[in-house]
Amino acid sequence: MDFLNKLKNAANKTYQSASQKTGELAKEAKLKMKMNDNKGKIKDLYEEIGKIIYQKHIHEEEVKIKEDLDSYCSQIDEISKEQEKLQEELLSLKNKRICENCYTEIELNVKYCPHCGFEQAEEKVEDINEDKEEDTEKEKNEDD
Ligand SMILES: [Zn+2]
Repeated sequence: MDFLNKLKNAANKTYQSASQKTGELAKEAKLKMKMNDNKGKIKDLYEEIGKIIYQKHIHEEEVKIKEDLDSYCSQIDEISKEQEKLQEELLSLKNKRICENCYTEIELNVKYCPHCGFEQAEEKVEDINEDKEEDTEKEKNEDD
């Protein structure tokens, strides 16, 4: 019954990869939704900042960025950071990366960007595991 077993295995594999694909699509949709959400939030914050500056203009006051706008700006900073993370997650989900030079979306495993020819850093290619849950976190904290 070797043949039947093989058939069964093949069917299982197909099913597995299909449902994995579905899971990925759902995850992708979720990430995109979250990113859209964040975009809206950033837009609102920009609007708030604009209002504040205009109010200052009306009252002929000076805008002090640290005092008047700091909380808004740091909120935008936070959301932008999250956006970057989401973007990276989204890309690794699709096995893609962004060319550091021309910012085109390219395949994760290419050495040179097909658009501009820029050589890509090799660091990310190593973990092509099925489980990318935990090992995607990369500490890149830059204090400025
Ligand atoms: Zn490029």
